[in-house]
Amino acid sequence: MLTKRGIPVSPGVAIAPAIVLDAEDQPIRRRTVPHSGVNGEVQRLEKALTDATREIETVRDRTAETLGNELSKIFNVHIGMLADPALTTRMRGAIKSERVTAEYAVYNTLRSLALQFKQNESTMVRKMGSDVTDLERRVLKHLIGEARSGLNELDHQAIVVAHDLTPSQTASLDKSKIKALIIDLGGRTSHTAILAHALGIPAIVGLEDITSEVSTGDSLIVDGHRGVVVIDPDAAKLMEYRQEVRRMAAFEDTLDELRDKPAVTRDGTEVILQANIEFPTEVDEAVAKGAVGIGLYRTEFLYLGADVEPSEETQYEAYVDVIRRLGGRPLTIRTLDLGADKVHESVTGSSEYNERNPFLGCRSIRLCLQSLPLFKTQLRAILRASIEGPVKIMFPLISNIMELRQAKMILSDVKEDLEDQGIPYREQIPIGMMIEVPSAAIQAMTFTREVDFFSVGTNDLIQYTVAVDRSNERIANLYSAAHPAVVSLIKEVIRSAQRGKIDVSLCGEMASEPEFTMLLVGLGLRSFSITPPAIPEIKQIIRSVSVDQCRRVARKVSGFDSDREIINYLRDEVVKVMPDLFEGRSFGI
Ligand code: PEP
Ligand code: MG
Repeated sequence: MLTKRGIPVSPGVAIAPAIVLDAEDQPIRRRTVPHSGVNGEVQRLEKALTDATREIETVRDRTAETLGNELSKIFNVHIGMLADPALTTRMRGAIKSERVTAEYAVYNTLRSLALQFKQNESTMVRKMGSDVTDLERRVLKHLIGEARSGLNELDHQAIVVAHDLTPSQTASLDKSKIKALIIDLGGRTSHTAILAHALGIPAIVGLEDITSEVSTGDSLIVDGHRGVVVIDPDAAKLMEYRQEVRRMAAFEDTLDELRDKPAVTRDGTEVILQANIEFPTEVDEAVAKGAVGIGLYRTEFLYLGADVEPSEETQYEAYVDVIRRLGGRPLTIRTLDLGADKVHESVTGSSEYNERNPFLGCRSIRLCLQSLPLFKTQLRAILRASIEGPVKIMFPLISNIMELRQAKMILSDVKEDLEDQGIPYREQIPIGMMIEVPSAAIQAMTFTREVDFFSVGTNDLIQYTVAVDRSNERIANLYSAAHPAVVSLIKEVIRSAQRGKIDVSLCGEMASEPEFTMLLVGLGLRSFSITPPAIPEIKQIIRSVSVDQCRRVARKVSGFDSDREIINYLRDEVVKVMPDLFEGRSFGI
């Protein structure tokens, strides 16, 4: 039995066997399979070799057509290598005698061949080393791709163990089979973490080397409350956790009873609790958990979940679907926030879209303003859908006023186009912006004259305020919503919105974390947009406190000068209010 700790990002406990996913761009770890799995690995190897050979034949024929036969000949060499019995027998032999995975057999065999070539005296032979590396990537791509898509055909429940997962890979996981996610990389508010939370799958990120500790088939316990993974648990540990699962299920049942009760403080102040969603189908769970609307619809997931760029019609249908599922409740549609860790080939032109500083790069509204057809297509789809229900439009990552004005101007152009074409849309659509860049937070008062509402995106606001990449596990301890500078920016934004008489909400993960509820209410926040599974507990806290009590908490927090002091104090205060809530939970900040 071995225990590992990481960053807990989605609560809950899961007990199931592991499925380990390798990554093409990382060294493949040596992992063994049980005796019964050897034949399956050999078959996977044969299939990957055949598929890679077919792929090279296609590339060869295309090259011959466009560049001529001479240049295409190199691909015959590649095909010859893949068919060379000396190589394939070594790979098969490794699987049969050492019981390693097909991935490791390919990686190890081709790596050592490439090394031999690269150390040769002849320049010609040394160049062949690069060809072998190219072949290795190609064959691994088939094996790893097949393993990932195989997740959807699983006939048993499993826990996914991966070096990293993109948001779209996470989104496509089958919740009925995948019971938890544990990942080497990632930070508290990486989009993969947010999605796992939204899907209600327990998840731990930042485990650093969990993929080398675990093999497919190992028995695992994942404790998403404490951030603990137990590998090969003994009978006592299993019993302890089975009891925990039963205790939590009972506690959640009591919270679910809150669904139809209002989110009102003990002294009668109403707080609006809306939900964040990524996909239309999430609306149903959000409403079931008690959301009174959707405060953040992350529309970029329409792109991330698709192979081809979603057309205006596809987008329109998704928006109408959300509106209808909401049955008259309000919906805030955020325009595309692509870029950084949310990349789609149709937008960037390549799956290998590398910016030197992606989070400071051409993402979100910046990308939209540089890709007008993309932006206008989305705005048309939103406007057309708006006649179906109470829709608001929100622009993300606004960092200066000209950007906002430009976005609004483009929206007016699209409205004019629709009018010219006689296509109906809702005239009075409230326009809002996210406050997730410190420059926007500092200039909030000015922005109140330009928009109808703010939504504070703390996931980004924190990373830009304290200069900590939100998805980097190595500096996750520095990423803190309780940093006094972050608290002070939030306070100023809320105050500016009040003085400017516009609505303000908060839709970053901070709003879903129970430690911060009293502070935010005390700072004057009356609208939260949170991940659906967190709605009952946040509502429970709101119903257990008074506004005066929260104001006292906020005043006390303003006297602290470190995130440690603030978070410790906030935890103590909320535990006084709801002692059961945090039983067994570990906190990160
Ligand atoms: C945020 O930055 O807080 C936010 C809600 O947006 P996202 O997490 O999608 O970047
Ligand atoms: Mg953001």
